[in-house]
Amino acid sequence: MSYKIETRCMHLDEDIVPCEKTGSISFPIYQTATFCHEGVGKSTGYDYTRLQNPTRERLEKIVAKLEGGIDALAFSSGMAAITTLMELFKPGDHLIVENDLYGGSVRLFDHVNKKNGIEFTGLDLWKDNVEDYIKENTKAVFVETPTNPMMNVTDIQALADKLKDKGILLIVDNTFLSPYLQNPLKLGADIVVHSGTKYLGGHNDTLAGFIIVDDDEVSDKLRFLIKTTGAGLSPFDSWLIMRGIQTLSVRMERAQSNAGLLAEWLSKQPGIKRVIYPGLSIHPGHEIMKKQARGFGAMLTFECESKELALKLLEDTKLIQYAESLGGTETLITYPLTQTHADVPEEKRLKNGITDKVLRLSVGLEAIEDLIADFEQALQ
Ligand SMILES: *Cc1c(COP(=O)(O)O)cnc(C)c1O
Repeated sequence: MSYKIETRCMHLDEDIVPCEKTGSISFPIYQTATFCHEGVGKSTGYDYTRLQNPTRERLEKIVAKLEGGIDALAFSSGMAAITTLMELFKPGDHLIVENDLYGGSVRLFDHVNKKNGIEFTGLDLWKDNVEDYIKENTKAVFVETPTNPMMNVTDIQALADKLKDKGILLIVDNTFLSPYLQNPLKLGADIVVHSGTKYLGGHNDTLAGFIIVDDDEVSDKLRFLIKTTGAGLSPFDSWLIMRGIQTLSVRMERAQSNAGLLAEWLSKQPGIKRVIYPGLSIHPGHEIMKKQARGFGAMLTFECESKELALKLLEDTKLIQYAESLGGTETLITYPLTQTHADVPEEKRLKNGITDKVLRLSVGLEAIEDLIADFEQALQ
């Protein structure tokens, strides 16, 4: 038997009776660093929490199932996950990466991985032909779709087809849509990463990250890395993320319905030059999204007529708070220029369209009337 995705946010297929001997409905937090052994050569399967802990393991199983992978590893943040992932590569390896990535990933590649001898080529993977840039030492392609913050959409399956049989790993950062709306492994990707801080946790209260794989060899390498480098998620934070995931399906549905309505409304406001949301039929990635995802998500970006208006909106919205991050219950407004993408070199930022007039919204679960009213008063 295999449950549907809404059920899988709470239950594993193998769950038959309530947890353990106590009947506790909530999975326990195993707040322990180490585990004892009955005798030499005997083990409960757990030795030390850096390697594995039952609470983290439960969360990892849930996330693996949600993404359709054979294994998931939970890390202390999205960046801890991506940093560990980069340990799969060695000096002299070449990676092709999307130009318009989360700013923290750009910073990691430029300031940590390059120093360690890894070579990068940045592409607009949604329009450039990756095949023209593959070299003998190309080991992986790293993409986000939709991208952050410009919402460019890459056809995952088409990209995977181009890399097939070349021994090049396709890595997709699936944070923006969450496994509820998009499953890159099923479209041919090899590795999925998430900032679990965002939709999976869903409440802007806990940092977490994930790597999900569908290959035993890659899973073994990553298990070795998590135990050796030590960035695994703590038992308590694992429990918080597990609790967040329970409501993933209802949160995503509500947030994306709000995002669609807000995108339509903003498109009609004087002072707003353009709204970039893949759910709008004018968005160039609209048809691809329909094909490869189960929805359009709840992130939208818009460009104001002037920098002054952008700054005014950041300061004058009251319900909608001016903060980094996304995927929580609250609607947040972000200024990519000085926040999430401050460390992206200016030339690259402008080429991607991240100007001083661009704002990003993570649409939350509030009543749509209240969100619109907040914008209405701020636009006055
Ligand atoms: C936030 C984010 C990250 C980094 O995750 P943290 O949990 O903040 O370390 C990576 N990728 C994307 C797309 C993100 O939004």
